[in-house]
Amino acid sequence: MKDIKLASKESGTKRTIIEVNGVRIGERLVVIAGPCAVESEYQLMKTAEAVKKAGADMLRGGAFKPRTSPYSFQGLGLKGLKILEKARKEFDLPVVTEVLDSRDVNWICEYVDVLQIGARNMQNFSLLKEVGKVNKPVLLKRGMYSKMSEWLNCAEYILSEGNPNVILCERGIRTFETYTRNTLDLSIVPAVKEISHLPVIVDPSHATGRVSLIKPMSLAAIAAGADGLLIEVHYKPEEALSDKDQQLTPDQFQELMEEVRELYSNMK
Ligand code: PEP
Ligand code: MN
Repeated sequence: MKDIKLASKESGTKRTIIEVNGVRIGERLVVIAGPCAVESEYQLMKTAEAVKKAGADMLRGGAFKPRTSPYSFQGLGLKGLKILEKARKEFDLPVVTEVLDSRDVNWICEYVDVLQIGARNMQNFSLLKEVGKVNKPVLLKRGMYSKMSEWLNCAEYILSEGNPNVILCERGIRTFETYTRNTLDLSIVPAVKEISHLPVIVDPSHATGRVSLIKPMSLAAIAAGADGLLIEVHYKPEEALSDKDQQLTPDQFQELMEEVRELYSNMK
């Protein structure tokens, strides 16, 4: 870990707390929830209303989707960002969205509060440098084939450009197991916390790909010391244009929030 200068605790920073419109990531448990993709104004508003009611701290939704096939739904782009902006105002929820291209970083900042770098782009160094130059926090997902040292070096790219606000997100890695979409590497949560002062959140939705596994893995993530969760929720998952099998219904999300809150309060 010798090149991890700014992301490491040896930099002198013991714990980074990232404030996003009053939500303090790294200080108390933060839950980011919303659909995989913004599909329509109606879909996002219905979902945002439900996650707000259940107690989510922030809203997620992709306007630019990194799909395996070029023929799959790619996201609504600018139209999606405008819908996110509307939900942000209406429900008073800070918004997280993924940026795929370094050319889009600056103008996307006008619509959202946190920029997400997806697993497939974790080592897109020109994109990392670009998000390092803006004044919005960055949610950096772990690449599906990445070691902790590679992940922390990517955080280092962002920090070294001047942006101190990086949230790390474990979202599962590829292993020989195929029953689950990925393998959630929960041991990385306390491991990163030994080395780095940055907050670490867990995404059990992309990690497992299965609705039935999301609540147990959310509870396990909290027990492992995660600073937050990123959960996919859709007002009608069966109609979702992407990641249908891993999006919770509003009722399932409400139940998850109740159990998560209870566990978290018992741990303090
Ligand atoms: C997402 O969160 O929308 C996403 C595409 O996740 P990942 O980059 O982890 O696959
Ligand atoms: Mn998704």
